[in-house]
Order: sequence, then C-alpha cells, then structure tokens
Amino acid sequence: MAPIPGSGLAKGLAVTLRTMTRKTVTEQYPDAQPELPPRTRGVIGLFEENCTVCMLCARECPDWCIYIDSHKETVPPAAPGGRERSRNVLDRFAIDFSLCMYCGICIEVCPFDALFWSPEFEYAETDIRDLTHERDKLREWMWTVPAPPALDPGAEEPKEIAAARKSAEKLAAAQAESAAQSESAAQAESAAQAESADQAESADQVQPQTEPAAEPPSSARPHTGTAAGPEPEPDTNRKPQEGES
Ligand code: SF4
Ligand code: SF4
Repeated sequence: MAPIPGSGLAKGLAVTLRTMTRKTVTEQYPDAQPELPPRTRGVIGLFEENCTVCMLCARECPDWCIYIDSHKETVPPAAPGGRERSRNVLDRFAIDFSLCMYCGICIEVCPFDALFWSPEFEYAETDIRDLTHERDKLREWMWTVPAPPALDPGAEEPKEIAAARKSAEKLAAAQAESAAQSESAAQAESAAQAESADQAESADQVQPQTEPAAEPPSSARPHTGTAAGPEPEPDTNRKPQEGES
C-alpha cells in the first residue's frame, strides 16, 4: 500500500511536538550538582587507620598504579614478660589516576576495608603528572564515601556486627557480674558491721551485773583507815620516839 502523502511530515512534527512538551533533562552543571547513583566509581578513598601495609592492593592492581612505602617499627610487649612485636608503618600511599582504569580490584582485595569508592569526580588537572594523588588527598576523599545501603531484612548478620555484638554482650555480662559481686560484698560488710554493733550493745548491757562480782569482798580488803573501815587501834606498848608528844 502506498504511503499517504504528507504522513512522514506529520509523524516528524508529532515527535517534535512530543519532545517540546517533555521536561528537559539537561543538568546545569556546575551550577547544579548531578545526582549520582550511590555506587558511582569516582575516586578511591583511603581509610589509613585500617591499612596494615599488606601490599595486596598494589600487587593485584593490573595497572601497577598504586605506590606504597612503609617502614617497620618495634612495638613494646602489651604485658610484662611478653614478646616485642614489629609492625609496618605507612609512609606513602598514592594512586596514579592517569593510569587507573577504575576496575575496583584494589578495593575488592583489600582484606582490612581500607579502600572505598567515592562518588567525587571533580579532580581534573591540567598536567597529567598532577593526577597522582597522595594519601592526604585519598584520606580527604574518604569523607565523601556514602554510607552503605541498608541490609536486606532477610540477610545474614555481617560477621563484624556479630563479633561486635558478642563482645558487647560479654562486656555487659562481666560488668553485671562484678557489680553483683561488689553489691554482695557491701551487703556482707554491712551485715558484719551490724552484727558487731549488736554484740557491743549486748556486752554493754551485761557489764553492770558482772562488775560487783569482780570486786573483792569487803572482808578481804586491806584496812586503809578510811571511813570504809574502823580506825586501827593505837599500839600502847610502843615507846614514844623523839619529837613525838
Ligand atoms: S581501580 Fe583497578 S586500576 Fe585503579 S588502582 Fe584499583 S586496581 Fe588499580
Ligand atoms: S590491601 Fe588494604 S590493607 Fe593492604 S596495603 Fe592495600 S589498602 Fe592497605
């Protein structure tokens, strides 16, 4: 069937009209920041507190664009009599973003969660040599990493959270046990104090009855010539001494 003359024009005008009435999708960057998806691969952020300088990321990077320098330090033993340990201290961590192909292997292989994708994308430079970014810049980018999405309700609890929960429960149980022990010790002490106070009180009540019995009988007391007893009779046979009348 032959096409109706002018139908192509009408079809084209219909498309134009539809597009004219549709909302524009052009983003006015840089006046308006784009809304990026949460898993955007912009740059790599480094959380250097987690980095143990195991060098896995540098070894696995297909472009060999991760540069790490470190030195060893001796750590004194944690407890007296323990063994000294040595640990790696990070001196340099840099990524050359002019070589990086954003494969994400370094982030995947890091066993200590020290590397993360950041959606940051404004790091263009006019000199390619300036695209090698050092640890300070990588650390700055770390703070632009979005929070991880919420877990699926049916998902298994992450190992880290389970371990943290178990240690928190253990700590709470130990604290409760020590609190109960100190409470029972305080109760026992107060009971002992009350008992000793009772004993002292009963001893005070018993003392007046026992005091007279402790005194010697009056017949057994020596004659002192006081009002308590008769005056000793003078010895008439004794000769008077000189000076005596
Ligand atoms: S994303 Fe890939 S290419 Fe880039 S640094 Fe990591 S491992 Fe290397
Ligand atoms: S793999 Fe992770 S822990 Fe090991 S050196 Fe790289 S960033 Fe550090």
